[in-house]
Amino acid sequence: MAKEKSYVMVKPGFAEHQWVIEEIKNRLHKAGLQIDEEGFVNYDKKHAREHYAEHVGKDFYPPLEKYITSGKAYGMIVSGPDAILKIRQMVGSTSNPQKGTIRADIPAMMGREVQTRENVIHASDSHASAKKEIKIFKELLNIEDDKDKSEDDKDFRVLK
Ligand code: GDP
Repeated sequence: MAKEKSYVMVKPGFAEHQWVIEEIKNRLHKAGLQIDEEGFVNYDKKHAREHYAEHVGKDFYPPLEKYITSGKAYGMIVSGPDAILKIRQMVGSTSNPQKGTIRADIPAMMGREVQTRENVIHASDSHASAKKEIKIFKELLNIEDDKDKSEDDKDFRVLK
């Protein structure tokens, strides 16, 4: 089994709930996978368009972009044996996920209906996607870091 890296993202509306993040992390750990890097990020239109490049121009893209830029997401770089396929199986299908998968179980635990767009989680579907999505995630983490630094600068100015 080849060691692989995948990109996993808990989507807006779900990343607000710490227990959802913990539930997903537990499932990843139980599957023998490890989380190399993680954090909250805010997708802007540019990064959403890069991440979902193959869907730009489709009918469902404008509401998808609106949704994915609507609030904070929680990104994770996950690695381990056969990580890409293993995680896709744990996630479940896009619009009709089976019981036992993240996309079915999390809405059930929240008392919500399963939805095609707001379907809890993203996971890379190939090496090429993982590579691209991890690069985007790292850029977004840097943007968050810069925001934190400028907040610190503001506090410093107030203190002075
Ligand atoms: P995934 O790999 O299972 O996430 O599915 P895709 O790459 O095909 O689509 C990306 C995301 O776009 C999905 O996870 C959904 O959030 C959204 N999406 C895909 N297909 C549809 C659709 O037919 N209708 C709506 N409303 N959203 C969709």
